[in-house]
Order: sequence, then structure tokens, then C-alpha cells
Amino acid sequence: MAQSLDPATRQALLDRVRFYRDLGLTEFYRRPVDPAMMARINVAPDEPQAEPTPQTFQLEEPTIPPRKPFPNAPAVAAAVPTAERSAAMQLIREELGECTRCALHKGRNKLVFGDGSPMARLMFVGEGPGADEDTQGLPFVGKAGQLLNNMIAAMGLKREEVYIANVVKCRPPNNRVPEPEEGATCSPFLFRQIDVVRPEVLVALGATAATWLLGTRQPLAGLRGRVHGVRATKLIVTYHPAYLLRDPRQKKEAWADLQIAMKELGLKLPERG
Ligand code: URA
Repeated sequence: MAQSLDPATRQALLDRVRFYRDLGLTEFYRRPVDPAMMARINVAPDEPQAEPTPQTFQLEEPTIPPRKPFPNAPAVAAAVPTAERSAAMQLIREELGECTRCALHKGRNKLVFGDGSPMARLMFVGEGPGADEDTQGLPFVGKAGQLLNNMIAAMGLKREEVYIANVVKCRPPNNRVPEPEEGATCSPFLFRQIDVVRPEVLVALGATAATWLLGTRQPLAGLRGRVHGVRATKLIVTYHPAYLLRDPRQKKEAWADLQIAMKELGLKLPERG
């Protein structure tokens, strides 16, 4: 039914889905549909109509395309000596080249490879470039990036000391969630970057990063608050900064996640009080 929605309504629905999904909510009650309202927005109502008892349905249907099984991530590569990491990262960049492996390249201004130190102990993974990132060719340089910078600073680190990358390296149209084919095509390059950096701690920013890093889709709420193991590295899952901008009340939850990362890294936690 979402196919008959106009692009703006469809995008608003997708944004809302992402907002709720970042919150960890995937099941909702559906109100009985008002056919007059559905006619106004040019959508055929579901059959049968007036079902008086509320039904549950999966939020990701039908606004997020059904996912194919996640491809197996490539085997973890051997550790790269510290002195060779910059060159190893450069090799991955060269192999990507002016990538046309998936449809996202068509709308790309600049490919956003990654940013920071290949020797980092801490690496952040986001979803995909937004408009600012697409213009500058760097990850997390827009409003969400400013918040990420503040989060990094709150941990007592500088942005240059960490490494930042995304699941996909080209901006999805209207900042939509990357399609399964796009993630499957691009994520092997992310995995190789992770293997080069071999950070002690990886932080997945939002549900898309968590899904691709863990190879399984689960509500964010069930993934937060604990340490996962991924590619010879510890993984912490937290909210995407863009979500925190929409709902700043969740910042303290994100801070609790970052404190888990700090503990794993042996970083000094701020004094309480
Ligand atoms: N959101 C992301 O997931 N990545 C970026 O680089 C910027 C915004």
C-alpha cells in the first residue's frame, strides 16, 4: 500500500519508522482505518475494514523493504601492524575507487570513506552519509556529527583519536535506510576497515549499524546496555545521534552506553554528582 503514497508522505512514514525503530519499538497497535481519510491520501484501505479489536503488526512492514538473509560477513583478516595501518586503509580506499557497485553511486556527490586514526582504540559506525557528508566527503560533519563530536569529547577523547565510518559510503536518496543490496555490497569494505583498525571497542550508532555489524536484525532496546563480540572486537550499541537530536531525553541513555565503552577502554569515568 505504501507504493501509492506520494514521496513526501512516504518519506515522513519512513522517518517515523526509523524514529520508532531507533527507540526499539517494533510492534504497535493499529487503529481501525478511516476510509475517508485513506481516500484523501490516495491509499486503498486494507481488507476487511472495521476490525474492532486492535491488531498488532510489525512496524517495519510495509515501509522498510523485506530483507534478504544477511550475507555472511567476510572472515576476520589478520591483524595489521600499527605502522602499516594507514597504508592498508589507503589500499581499501583505492580498491573502492569511483565505486559504481550499487545504485547509490548515481546520486552521490562525494563518496564518504571514513575519517580518523587507523590506530584508534575506539571506532564508531553510522548508517550512511547525509547531505553535509555527501558534500564534504567526510562522515558525521552535519548536525548529528556535531553531537557525535560532543559525545566523543565527553568521553575525554578527540575526534582525531577515533575512527568513524558508515555501513554505506554513498548517500541514500532522502536519507532513507540503505536497501539490503546496498548494505550487502558496501559493508564488506566496512568490515575490512574494522579489521585494519581492529579497535578495542566498536560503537554502533543506531539500528542500521547494529544490524549490519551483528548480522541480525533486533530491536535496539534489546541490544543496548551490554557488550557484544564482533570481528575480534567488543561492540556497544547505542542510539544514532540524529535520533538523539529528535529526542534529547534519550541522551542520558546514550551516555550510559558510552560509559560502558569507556569502562572497556579503561578510560576514566567522570566523577558523579
Ligand atoms: N548519519 C550517519 O549515519 N552517518 C553520517 O556520516 C552522517 C549522518
